[in-house]
Amino acid sequence: MNLLVLGAGQLARMMALAAKPLNIEIRAYDVGSQQVVDPLNTAVPYGSLSDGIAFADAITAEFEHISHDVLALCEQSGKLYPSSQSIKTGGDRRLEKELLTLSNAANATHAIIESAEDYRSALDTLALPIILKSALAGYDGKGQWRLKSAKRANEVWQEIDEFFAGADSKQKQGVIAEQMVPFDREVSLVGVRDKTGNTKVYPLAENHHTNGVLSVSTALAGEHVLQAQAAEIFDRVANALNYVGVLAIEFFQVGEKLLVNEIAPRVHNSGHWTQQGADTCQFENHVRAVCGLPIGSTALIRPTAMINILGEDTLPNALFAIPGVSLHWYGKEKRAGRKMGHINVSAATSAELQKTLELVAETLPDNETFADIKLYINKQ
Ligand code: AMP
Repeated sequence: MNLLVLGAGQLARMMALAAKPLNIEIRAYDVGSQQVVDPLNTAVPYGSLSDGIAFADAITAEFEHISHDVLALCEQSGKLYPSSQSIKTGGDRRLEKELLTLSNAANATHAIIESAEDYRSALDTLALPIILKSALAGYDGKGQWRLKSAKRANEVWQEIDEFFAGADSKQKQGVIAEQMVPFDREVSLVGVRDKTGNTKVYPLAENHHTNGVLSVSTALAGEHVLQAQAAEIFDRVANALNYVGVLAIEFFQVGEKLLVNEIAPRVHNSGHWTQQGADTCQFENHVRAVCGLPIGSTALIRPTAMINILGEDTLPNALFAIPGVSLHWYGKEKRAGRKMGHINVSAATSAELQKTLELVAETLPDNETFADIKLYINKQ
C-alpha cells in the first residue's frame, strides 16, 4: 500500500519508519516547496501534489495548518483520513471550541474575539487573568497574550489589532479569550480510531514545558480515574468528528477534573514515548488506521518517558551506554530551540525509570533547556 502524508517533517519521517515493516510506502508532500518528497531524505523528489495523490491509496496529514485548497483536492480523491473537517478543526480554535461544546467536553470559560466590540464584551464577561490565543496558526505558545490587569487592556488590544491587520486575508483571523485555569499539571491523551469506529487509547502522559515548548512527557500508569475520564472524552470527541487515525487531546488537570486545552488531529509529540513504551507505537497505529487495517494494542509495556532535544544536533555517546535509552534524531538542520530529536527512556519499574532519568540528566549538556529539564527530573 502507498500513503501520502501532507507535511514532510519529523512526524512524516517517523510514520515512514513505522510503515516500512508493514510493506507500506510513504511519500510526503512538502507544503513549502509544494513537491512530493521521500520523508527519510527530503532531497529526493517525487513530483507534484497530483502525482502524490495518484500514487496514494490513502492520504493523511502530519500537521493541521495546511491550505484549504490542498485539503479540498485531497478530499475529492476520497482517500483523505482524517477528514478535512477534522484537520481544519485542529487548526482553528473557534472550530475546536465548537467541537468541545458539541462533545460536551469541559474546557476553560472563553469568548471569541473578532472585533474591538467583541474584546470589550469579553472583558465584561471573563474575570481576569485571561489568556488570548490567535484562532489560526497558533502553536507552542505563539500568537498569545496574557492579560492580568485591566490597566493593560488597551495596550493588549492594540497588539491584537495590529496582529489582525497583518494576518493573511485568505481566512478570517480571530482570537479566543480564555479564563486562566489554575491547573495542577498538564496531561495529554493520545488515542486512535479506525474506519469502523473502534477506539483504543494510550495511557495518559504528564507533560512538562520549557519556554512554552513540550520538553518532557512521561507515561502515567495507575491513574485509573483520570484515565477513564480522559478516555470517555476521547471517544466523544473522536466520534463527533467520525475521526480516523491518531488524535491527541491536551488537558489541564484541576484536582481530579480534566479540562480540555486543545486537540491535535495527528500523531503528537506527547506520544513519542510509545515507540519504546507501548505494544504498538502511535506512528504504526496511525498508519494502520488510515490504511484501513485493524489497530494494534495501545498497552503500556514498560514505564517510559520522553525528553525532547531542542536546538542541539549532537549529544554525548555516553547516552548509548545507559540501558533503556533510545535516541531518535530527525535529520534536521540545527537552529536555536528547534525540535531536533528526542530521547526515550524506559525501565522495568517506575523507580528504576526515575534513576535512569537522573543518569540521563547527568549526561546531558548544560544548555538552557536541558538545565530546566534536569531541574524537572531531579524534582520528581
Ligand atoms: P496552548 O498553545 O493552548 O497549548 O497554550 C500554551 C500553554 O499556555 C499551555 O501549555 C499552558 O501552559 C498555558 N495555557 C494555555 N491556556 C491556558 C489557560 N486557559 N489557563 C492556564 N494556562 C494556559
